[in-house]
Amino acid sequence: MEVSVLRLSHRYVRDTRTTTHLFLVARAFGTDKVVYTGQRDKEIEEELKEITETWGGSFKIEHSESWTSTLKDWQNSDGETIHLTMYGLPIQDVINQIRASKKNKLIIVGGAKVPGTVYRLVDWNVAVTSQPHSEVGALSVFLHELFEGRELSKNFPNAKLIIIPQQKGKKVTKTD
Ligand code: SAM
Repeated sequence: MEVSVLRLSHRYVRDTRTTTHLFLVARAFGTDKVVYTGQRDKEIEEELKEITETWGGSFKIEHSESWTSTLKDWQNSDGETIHLTMYGLPIQDVINQIRASKKNKLIIVGGAKVPGTVYRLVDWNVAVTSQPHSEVGALSVFLHELFEGRELSKNFPNAKLIIIPQQKGKKVTKTD
């Protein structure tokens, strides 16, 4: 099962920090790819590429001109679409059903106002509490529930640096 994230309406500079954190979470917590719409941000693309080269794995980042075509392409290839929103169904009520389907999954998160069409076109609108918070928090909890904690011990092949966990202090090994 492939899992990707679609981030809507990125605004260069204004959203750079949040979008970067969102993509770092997407990578660290086990997704394969992020796609984003809105303003193209080559600094974020470069930063994620460098992180992946250093810390391993095959995470991809793409810019899309149109969220509708990204979403429809995904649906046309029999993938499932899940929009994270505080107005959706509680995650605890639907996650078993979402997990049971082995279809590829596109997880959509907003930033600025999300167009109403998104709510209508997706397969699922899912809430991580019915309170407003953040796309970074919502994505983290959703992925943790989707993968049932397996993402915590995910391997990242071809890393140049590997952390050796320590009770105190920092230990990092170089692989080449
Ligand atoms: N009032 C805004 C809205 O939902 O349209 C909140 C924007 S919030 C800063 C940005 C994104 O965080 C939302 O588009 C949604 O993807 C995510 N988000 C925020 N709270 C959430 C919640 N309780 N459950 C799921 N996703 C949430």
